[in-house]
Amino acid sequence: MAAITLRELTKVYPNGVRALDALDLEIADGEFFALLGPSGCGKTTLLRTIAGLELSSGGSVRIGDRDVTSLPPGQRDVAMVFQDYALFPHMTVRDNIAYPLRIKKVGKADRQDKAARTADELGLSALLDRRPGQLSGGQQQRVALARAMACHPQVFLLDEPLSNLDARLRLEARTFLKRLQRELGVTTVFVTHDQAEALALADRIAVMEGGRIRQVGTPTEVFRRPANTFVAGFIGSTPMNLVPARVRGDELAVAAVRLPVPEDVRGELTDGEQVVYGVRPEYLDYSPEPASGALTGQVVVVENLGSFSLVSLDVPAEEPDAGATTSVQVVVPEGREPEPGDTGWVTPRPGRSLIY
Ligand code: ADP
Ligand code: MG
Repeated sequence: MAAITLRELTKVYPNGVRALDALDLEIADGEFFALLGPSGCGKTTLLRTIAGLELSSGGSVRIGDRDVTSLPPGQRDVAMVFQDYALFPHMTVRDNIAYPLRIKKVGKADRQDKAARTADELGLSALLDRRPGQLSGGQQQRVALARAMACHPQVFLLDEPLSNLDARLRLEARTFLKRLQRELGVTTVFVTHDQAEALALADRIAVMEGGRIRQVGTPTEVFRRPANTFVAGFIGSTPMNLVPARVRGDELAVAAVRLPVPEDVRGELTDGEQVVYGVRPEYLDYSPEPASGALTGQVVVVENLGSFSLVSLDVPAEEPDAGATTSVQVVVPEGREPEPGDTGWVTPRPGRSLIY
């Protein structure tokens, strides 16, 4: 097992696309680490550059105490599971799992034995003689994991391994993957564009945008204290409300209401400064009655999400921008939903607001 250290890692493709931009990152030994970001932000490129399937244009990759920047994939002691699993369709499950051992010139009896044991650990023993076409998506995914595990690599690289599974299977596979990683304790880098998956699985998360890392932290840290509005908008099952606001002495003019400046940023703000006031829809309380310190506006959309509804209000902006409105979303528990057209009041819970 090993830590991974990336220093000023840069990848420019021949077509000029800068997919990784002087990226610095440290992943600890044994960590379950998620790379999270929108499509095209460079997640797959980063994984392939760690694996050695792409050569970097600058910077370095260290795995454990070795600088592997210019080593070929076979000498890096990593195993990658691809998004589409990339199983060999003409080979049985047994031969698929044993394939990397064959490449490593492990003897036949030994590799069949190792493949069988790995298959057993992943609950695949009954399927050893089948071909990939005779397996469900979830089973194929396990075979791909087994093939990666058979060599006992120092590092696992998983590129959106759950994205081809349907919603129910994905939840099962999540639990399975987390348990497996705990048991093996192998440093694992897991790529996903699904923030819920990253929050549920990872010890730590790096949020990427445009070939750079915008924040690294535990799920709690990136959820509670997103470092910037990009992370704030990307993390959470509903995006954070980001409302233009202005500093007025000790207060913040948010839309037409004055709110106290949050304690942690008092003293850092200057009077008259334009900022962005951030609060999650889960941390706003909705009321059909006027409430002090509440933002008020008209309900425009009520989205039923099962045990709660997501209610969007159009909130009129502050005086100078009279006529303009800001959209604010609030989570309202089942049975208390308003109707579109109603006037509503939303109050932020203390200590839950962020200023950008
Ligand atoms: P992600 O996995 O986050 O969706 P990628 O790493 O696949 O992102 O891509 C990052 C950027 O690099 C994108 O702009 C993509 O179009 C570009 N890109 C990826 N692979 C290649 C390639 N082989 N040649 C040129 N550009 C590429
Ligand atoms: Mg990708």
